[in-house]
Amino acid sequence: MKRVRFAPSPTGYLHLGNARTALFNYLFAKHEGATFILRIEDTDLERSKKEYEEMLIQDLKWMGLEWDEGPDKGGPYGPYRQSERLDIYHQYAKKLLETGHAYFCYCTEEELEKEREKAIAEGKPYRYSGKCRNLTQQEREELEAKGLKPVIRFKVPDKTVVFEDIIRGHVEIDTKEFGDFVIVRQDGMPVYNFVVVIDDALMKITHVIRGEDHLSNTPKQIVIYEALGFDIPQFAHLPIILGEDRTKLSKRHGAVSVRALKDDGFLSEAVFNYLSLLGWHPKDEREILPKEEIISQFRIEDVNKSPAIFDRTKLRWMNGVYIREILDLDELTKRAVEFFEGFGYKADFEYYKKVMSAIRDSIETLMDIKDRAKVFFVDEFPFTEEIVSEVKSDPNFYKVVEIFYEKIKDLNSITKEDFKNITKEIQKEYGFKGKGLFHPLRIALTGESSGVGLDLLVEVIGIDKVKFRIKRFLEYFG
Ligand code: GLU
Repeated sequence: MKRVRFAPSPTGYLHLGNARTALFNYLFAKHEGATFILRIEDTDLERSKKEYEEMLIQDLKWMGLEWDEGPDKGGPYGPYRQSERLDIYHQYAKKLLETGHAYFCYCTEEELEKEREKAIAEGKPYRYSGKCRNLTQQEREELEAKGLKPVIRFKVPDKTVVFEDIIRGHVEIDTKEFGDFVIVRQDGMPVYNFVVVIDDALMKITHVIRGEDHLSNTPKQIVIYEALGFDIPQFAHLPIILGEDRTKLSKRHGAVSVRALKDDGFLSEAVFNYLSLLGWHPKDEREILPKEEIISQFRIEDVNKSPAIFDRTKLRWMNGVYIREILDLDELTKRAVEFFEGFGYKADFEYYKKVMSAIRDSIETLMDIKDRAKVFFVDEFPFTEEIVSEVKSDPNFYKVVEIFYEKIKDLNSITKEDFKNITKEIQKEYGFKGKGLFHPLRIALTGESSGVGLDLLVEVIGIDKVKFRIKRFLEYFG
């Protein structure tokens, strides 16, 4: 049975890079019928926060990713939160000490600093000297008597670590490149490269799919697997994600967390679709693919090694396609409600639906509702200086609005067709047409010089608001 895991550290919002890692694990699991595990890596006690864990879980769920085992769900290999597994790590640290694969190291920060400076002076890359590798029991006792607290280091064997990465292919690293590394800190906290091995092994993970930034950690992990006699999983290191300027994606590139995208009005389906294309693509050239289709086509072997570029303009475009063509109106409106309310646009669901239907073709994110939907909610918009001078410089401006008012003042309702008929009549009877007719009406009704079709607008806002806005204009300029 194949098993994969996503193992975030709850030290901040779910970054897009991590979201893509979670997504590819999920896609692998769904495509392969594997089990998907969520494990919270919270051994960095200073930076990890429970709130971040909760938000991570919310954001993963928002994206439509579901796991089979995890801290919120339980499962046969729990607990799934590293802070609850410290006893397990200490057992294995003990085992490594007993079998001679690890040792206590008492070197102080100052001593290590000296070693480092010496290496720099000699122009060599720094590796721990291994000074404490062969301390006798007596030497250890003397050091402890001085009050020194040790770390535990892994005794790295001299060898070339070789593995076949599913994405990157053949990888070889000489262990001289890293030297004996710390697995348990002075304060007793075990470190990532050690605990990740224990967890992946005990949770029976078969495929470790994670970001390329972990590639250099993998050989360190492999030597621990070997020391403990664990089966080594297969590795797949996903390509890095860059911004459009080809530098590592970061805050400088704008919103780069899933939460920020959600708040900016992106739909989870579009984010799912877009992120799936960061490092992978389907057999054909299609870019808009429903979840099921992505799952059925996704093969981890097909992921590229070369960096993926996060292109916000393309994400916006894709989101626009989901808004216009994919979600049905009811669902789209449901997602939009919190945005309408957030902008202070108060109405019932049916009204929101009508507005959504009128503007969905002209927005790319739900944030765009703010500007595009304004005319459906704001009756008392300001008459700007620009409008004032326009109205004053053209006597027909006021006249057109006045004629229109005469035509509608006794109506009890107004549809798109009514509006079309009325404007046709005005054209026939008075000769006003085109911009000369519609521009004054648009200004009087919305205060703006472009936007949704006026016929649609009047039908949605209804006759009372139409009368109110037109009268307000006439009173202001009369
Ligand atoms: N907690 C690590 C991270 O967030 C997990 C790395 C891994 O998948 O092994 O980067």
